[in-house]
Amino acid sequence: MKEAQRGKLLILSMAATVGITAITWYFCVPNPNMVLITAVITFTFVGGFPCGVISAAIVIGYSLLFFSLPGQLFHYSAQNFYKIIVIVAFVPVQVLLVGILKKRADVKSKKLEQANQKLNYLSRIDYLTDIPNRRYFNEMTNTAYQKAQLYAQPICCALIDIDFFKQYNDHYGHIAGDECLKKIAGAVREELRGTNSFAARYGGEEFVILFPNTEAAPARSLCEKVQAAVKRLQIPHADSSVSSHVTISIGVASVQLTENNSKTELLRNADKALYLAKEMGRNRIESIAAE
Ligand code: GH3
Ligand code: MG
Ligand code: MG
Repeated sequence: MKEAQRGKLLILSMAATVGITAITWYFCVPNPNMVLITAVITFTFVGGFPCGVISAAIVIGYSLLFFSLPGQLFHYSAQNFYKIIVIVAFVPVQVLLVGILKKRADVKSKKLEQANQKLNYLSRIDYLTDIPNRRYFNEMTNTAYQKAQLYAQPICCALIDIDFFKQYNDHYGHIAGDECLKKIAGAVREELRGTNSFAARYGGEEFVILFPNTEAAPARSLCEKVQAAVKRLQIPHADSSVSSHVTISIGVASVQLTENNSKTELLRNADKALYLAKEMGRNRIESIAAE
């Protein structure tokens, strides 16, 4: 609970207890303690120890006044004296018990909330490369598309595929392949840092980048930077036919969104452009622009 919220609850408990006390006094409720003790228990459960203590202090104070002999404040008949003893002993015990219960419930709900947040994170992040997964990409893309369609903004998408990755795995082993994927994902992420673009692992050895509100030329130049970043990694690839190091091919698609075109079309065009890049020799970027 936030500090401000805690303060508000405290004031609310105090005001409510004073209000209830005033009502029992105004209507001359013959034995107000059952009502007041219920209030103390409720406020302890709602606001925890601080609210319980403040509510209990008001109730005990009022009881001391209420059970005083007529005209003699803080003087009690023997019977009322025992009533006071019971209230003074009973109310703090109630606050203590309910306060402990409340604290336990709070700890449990906090743990549950943390577990939920972690689950939410895990369901959106690729376990291997630690960048967003395809599910998260789809969520982000849907939002970006709606915005692009609403404001008729340009939007681009790039599909990245590692060249001759099967050969890489065959030559260096699957674990080295995993390491290579992690490094490339890291390079893509770093290169896009500070831009409005969004990268995710699309599946296998493929990554995807969405460029919201971006024209074809800047999207392509960002792709060139990503390609150069992968080159800088200088990951040896003895079995590649295009380089002595690991390279990537990129297909970029751009479109000015209107109501007539869909996000599937953009992804399909990025896939076509990637296919072209592979056909034309790999380690290159090809683009397709749609109206
Ligand atoms: P191309 O240049 O045409 O893209 O050839 P390629 O060998 O990269 O493509 P292909 O589709 O033939 O092979 C992709 C390989 O990627 C095969 C698969 O074992 C590997 N791969 C996919 N996911 C993973 C992964 O999570 N870890 C590792 N180590 N390898 C993976
Ligand atoms: Mg592939
Ligand atoms: Mg490949």
